[in-house]
Amino acid sequence: MNMLPFTRPTLGEEEYGAVQEVLQSGWITSGPRVVELEKNLAVYIGGGVDVRLFSSATAALEAVLIAGKIGPGDEVIVPAMSFVASANVVVRTGATPVFVDVDIKSRNLDAQAIRSAITGKTRAIMPVHFAGMPVEMAPIYELAASHDLLVLEDAAQAIGTCYQGRQIGSFGNPVSFSFHPNKNMTTIEGGAIASADPQLIKQLESIRFHGISRNDKGEMLVEAWGGKMNLPDVNAAIGLAQLKKLDGFNAKRRRLAEYYFRQLPSHPALVLPADTPGHSWHMFCVCLDFESMGMTREDILETFKAQDIMLGMHYPAMHLFGLYRQLGYGRGDFPVAEQIGDQTFTLPLFPAMTTDDVDRVAAVFNALLA
Ligand SMILES: *Cc1c(COP(=O)(O)O)cnc(C)c1O
Repeated sequence: MNMLPFTRPTLGEEEYGAVQEVLQSGWITSGPRVVELEKNLAVYIGGGVDVRLFSSATAALEAVLIAGKIGPGDEVIVPAMSFVASANVVVRTGATPVFVDVDIKSRNLDAQAIRSAITGKTRAIMPVHFAGMPVEMAPIYELAASHDLLVLEDAAQAIGTCYQGRQIGSFGNPVSFSFHPNKNMTTIEGGAIASADPQLIKQLESIRFHGISRNDKGEMLVEAWGGKMNLPDVNAAIGLAQLKKLDGFNAKRRRLAEYYFRQLPSHPALVLPADTPGHSWHMFCVCLDFESMGMTREDILETFKAQDIMLGMHYPAMHLFGLYRQLGYGRGDFPVAEQIGDQTFTLPLFPAMTTDDVDRVAAVFNALLA
């Protein structure tokens, strides 16, 4: 049987040709392809937002925090369940991440958890749209407005996700996307910020490229610190081809996810993910209470591996990493994030998969839980 990974990028002749064209053009770093992809992403997202590309979503998140002058003494509210970049970018600025727990099925935070974590030092909230499942944003926007807090959405996993029928990223506040190979579309490495604030867009252009801006005479100015976070045209060319395929990719992901729901067993030891219209199905993550089955995590991984199926694990709870234990966090602080961290498995889900592949995965679960 062929090996079934938990994800795999879908690339074809369009991407290969686009890369070759850039390589032969004489201009291979940030240039016309970046500008074109920024325009196309802005149109795709809608809502009149502007988009700026970065070398990664991690860099993009950092740049927004730097632009917002978030630093030492400030607190940023982050879900305890996410990829560790979400909290690391806060630490990088000198500010303190303040974790909150999440829901077991959506794996997202909610406004109630955020409200109880707000202090006099809170400056920003970073909702993470886990696995492409949209966070319930309306009460969070309301809460943020009433406390004058920045909402910076980590939508690394949510390009193409819709909330209340509108694209994530189209609501005006800064939203970060990732184009890492595992995500729903890729530029190899790469990320983007969507924002409706022209002032922020200008700041981001400078922060991503050495702090450089230009005056009316075209002279080079450096008024504030900037780094090196620009995306090359080679990568943007891949993104231009991928963006055209994104809705097709996401439709296929949805069909496969719906097929998983039909084929997986209903069993108290197996927690299936939440679904909602607009979910972009970046990942299909379950919790499996393998201890109640007298098994270990390794046993489960080995059982699937014996059938040539590789599962992922997204993610360990962030507050239990050594870096965050240093802030005083420990086991027991966020029981749901900990349960997910202990019991999570990511099932194979990518556009090139077939329903036969889903059947292969479901058959192992059905045998395990029979
Ligand atoms: C992938 C990911 C990131 C980081 O994206 P990069 O482009 O790899 O920097 C940040 N947050 C979440 C939730 C992610 O899944």
